[in-house]
Amino acid sequence: EPKVAPSIKDDFDDDELVAFAENLENISPEELERRAKKKERPNNPLFKYRRGVLSVSDLSAQIWCEQQLYYKFLYPFVLNDEGEIKRVDDKPHMLCGTALHLERELEIQTKVSIECKTREDSYGVRLLNMVQGINGLLTWNKPNERYITREMPIFGNMYGGKLYFRGIIDEINYDPRTHQLEVVEFKTRASKTAPKPQQTYTHEVQVNIYRTLLDELIQGQVDKSLYFERFNLQPSTPLCEAVRNEYKERGFPDINTLENAFDLLMKLTFRMPTITTNGAIEYILQSDATWKHRKEFQRDEKHLQDLLIKSEPFWLGTREPEGVDIEDAFKCQWCDYGEICAWREEKANEFSRKKKRLN
Ligand code: SF4
Repeated sequence: EPKVAPSIKDDFDDDELVAFAENLENISPEELERRAKKKERPNNPLFKYRRGVLSVSDLSAQIWCEQQLYYKFLYPFVLNDEGEIKRVDDKPHMLCGTALHLERELEIQTKVSIECKTREDSYGVRLLNMVQGINGLLTWNKPNERYITREMPIFGNMYGGKLYFRGIIDEINYDPRTHQLEVVEFKTRASKTAPKPQQTYTHEVQVNIYRTLLDELIQGQVDKSLYFERFNLQPSTPLCEAVRNEYKERGFPDINTLENAFDLLMKLTFRMPTITTNGAIEYILQSDATWKHRKEFQRDEKHLQDLLIKSEPFWLGTREPEGVDIEDAFKCQWCDYGEICAWREEKANEFSRKKKRLN
């Protein structure tokens, strides 16, 4: 029996259907328009599971094992050894990573709650986080100290490709003496050992994606209408008072719509003194944040472009998902889908057929 729990409820009873129908009457015309647009969208993994926008970690997960990523979409719940239903990604080390990110963010930034009324408002706040991080750098007046901003949202379609990405950059720092801009990714470790190359590889790709997205933003290579289309947002919807006030308090009194906020971001990024020069990963011990292992590396643009060429057809639904190659079979040992994986079974059969032929 596969250790996979059904995740989709398809046995609605009459009461639930009536409640659903009543609810429909309360839906605003904007929401109905949004839903109609959604129906017109292509039926491929990009739109079916990710509404047209990938997170940067989707690509890292795809690099680790595309077949596993696809199983996560189909069966997001599994039974653990105690027979309880668990979400596949609810692992203790992941929760620990989230706490650590928050801790590091609070070292240098204060969290402010803003009450949002619409999707446009919450995207207005995301843009505000970017505006604040970049404006802080532009107005930095300590020539001998590094400027640091953490947890900055980022988005874009790299190299004008069909895939659109969103993510959060853990840290951007700028050295005013050398004019070097660095993107840093934080990762947690359970033990005081340096990570294996297979692990650092996906982390490096992640940092390289962030660097490319940030550089494209700085260079103004961001398509405004594509941003609104992919996130399904109305650019001219007025932002609520709470969001407008936050912009005002930070010295931007003329921001009334999401489009105004987007234009402001473009104006500021265009004034950035440099594009990213360095990339690094900081591995931090879960039980003792004073232990760190830092890895710096060069950008390999060609490699990133090749990866995008390989991953795109899966998202656009023009090829089936692929599992790991035989030399990466070690990944299957920790995989939640090992027992049902058709790719693994096929590779094992292929291997025994080859062995028989050789004998
Ligand atoms: Fe990928 Fe191996 Fe898991 Fe199959 S068993 S999904 S090939 S990691």
